[in-house]
Amino acid sequence: MPTDRRRFLQGLGAFAGFLGLGNVFKYHTQTFLLRDVPTLSENQQAEWKGATVKSYRPLGATGFEISDISLGSSKLRDADIVRMAADRGINYIDTSPDYSEASSERYVGEGIKGRRDKLFIASKFCTPDGHLDVDTPVAEIMAAVEGSLQRLGTDYLDLCHIHACNSVERLMAPNFHEAFDRLKEQGKVRFLGVSSHTPQLETVLKEALDSGRFHVLMAAYHFEHWPELANIIERAHGSGVGFVAMKTLKGAYHTVLSDFTPDERTSFTQAAFKWVNGNPHVSGLVVSMWSPPQLDEYLYASGQKAGAADLALLEKYERLIAREYCRPGCGDCLGSCPAGLPIDDILRYSMYYEGYQCEREAMRDYAKLDSHRTAAVCAGCSAPCQDVCPFELPVGKKMARAHDLLSFKPTTV
Ligand code: SF4
Ligand code: SF4
Repeated sequence: MPTDRRRFLQGLGAFAGFLGLGNVFKYHTQTFLLRDVPTLSENQQAEWKGATVKSYRPLGATGFEISDISLGSSKLRDADIVRMAADRGINYIDTSPDYSEASSERYVGEGIKGRRDKLFIASKFCTPDGHLDVDTPVAEIMAAVEGSLQRLGTDYLDLCHIHACNSVERLMAPNFHEAFDRLKEQGKVRFLGVSSHTPQLETVLKEALDSGRFHVLMAAYHFEHWPELANIIERAHGSGVGFVAMKTLKGAYHTVLSDFTPDERTSFTQAAFKWVNGNPHVSGLVVSMWSPPQLDEYLYASGQKAGAADLALLEKYERLIAREYCRPGCGDCLGSCPAGLPIDDILRYSMYYEGYQCEREAMRDYAKLDSHRTAAVCAGCSAPCQDVCPFELPVGKKMARAHDLLSFKPTTV
């Protein structure tokens, strides 16, 4: 074994020990080779039926208390789910002009008729065609929000996020802030938020708090999260800024992990939600729901705390997917690739696509690579990159799959 590789493995062993992941190399599950990973347990329990929200928490200083498990609508296909969610006690709905192939806001609008005043509706500075650039004129940003109001059939948004905020430049883009101030004056948007789930997440969220401009932060938050995030959430809480967690299932690959028992698959989502809401500084979480069984399964975790069995389950999940993650800051394989591909970047985009469901963003980043630097060549390569990966990742296969996922095709955009 090369010295560098041994050193890296030793370093990982120490890190794994620190995390309590002593058996990190015990598992070699070939996990998720499916394109759409099901998020729902196959083993729905009778006691989940009709589950309701059991806990509400303050959303910072907005004066609103939100359901600890709330409705994300990125895959919504039916206004009835919105009605059912509200009947079950969900009072916070997260939507965006570009969700559900640009139909989410319409479904939400239909579902909230007759009960708008009891609900907190969050949308994004965005259009049905996608994110707005930082230099979008103020009038266009305001027109985009007017479009949201029209589709939602409401006079105001409770919250509007600067969407997919991957840099401080985007966070503090003057045009977004001017548009928000004018819309607030007109009574069309009440609070300003930021949503982020990129590697710059910690920097962006800290800057959002420093600026004093934001009322709510929404970010990816799950077990084994970014190291600084718990401190940022605590600081937000102390500053009267709400924190809404998203991407709480860390890829939601539990249904296809061959080393998971049926019982483990059944309780994974609830364990993950309990872990997130175990942080008292979190206002609540949003999770995509588009079917009644999801309402049953997910809401059953409302108001519950994670116990020892939940934590053990989450730790096992972490171990099982350890062989799927390309480690940030590694780069050991880069010199082995005859085509000189940016392997670490491409696998990161692929993780955004699959793990964080940031499909459009990931595909756009991939499309920016020069054509000779894409993973198109990997399918026919003997993959020397694989021999040098200290984490034994199936790099060649992952690269070929990344190319398949990330390439623009008429049917996927
Ligand atoms: S499989 Fe792809 S990334 Fe790996 S060495 Fe071959 S061309 Fe490079
Ligand atoms: S594929 Fe393996 S060797 Fe290459 S950057 Fe990722 S973790 Fe490191």
